[in-house]
Amino acid sequence: MTDHLHDNCKALLGSLSEYIDGELPSDLCREIEKHLEGCDNCRVVLNTTKRTIDLVHITPEEQTVPDDVRERLFKRLKLDDYLNPQP
Ligand SMILES: [Zn+2]
Repeated sequence: MTDHLHDNCKALLGSLSEYIDGELPSDLCREIEKHLEGCDNCRVVLNTTKRTIDLVHITPEEQTVPDDVRERLFKRLKLDDYLNPQP
């Protein structure tokens, strides 16, 4: 297993809805796809997000990841330290 930088995951998750929408420039998409190839966690998040969007049938204009979903996904990735830094 290679070193996994959660910083990359955080950046990726931040642009995930744009990526799913196809709103990102193609070079950025390629970067994300490269990361997804080596990161099971982010693949799970991508699939879960896509499924969530399918389930709730959000219109394209409203197609963003709801805060609570994002928070749950971050927790699953043990990224909640980034969301709620503990002293
Ligand atoms: Zn990742």
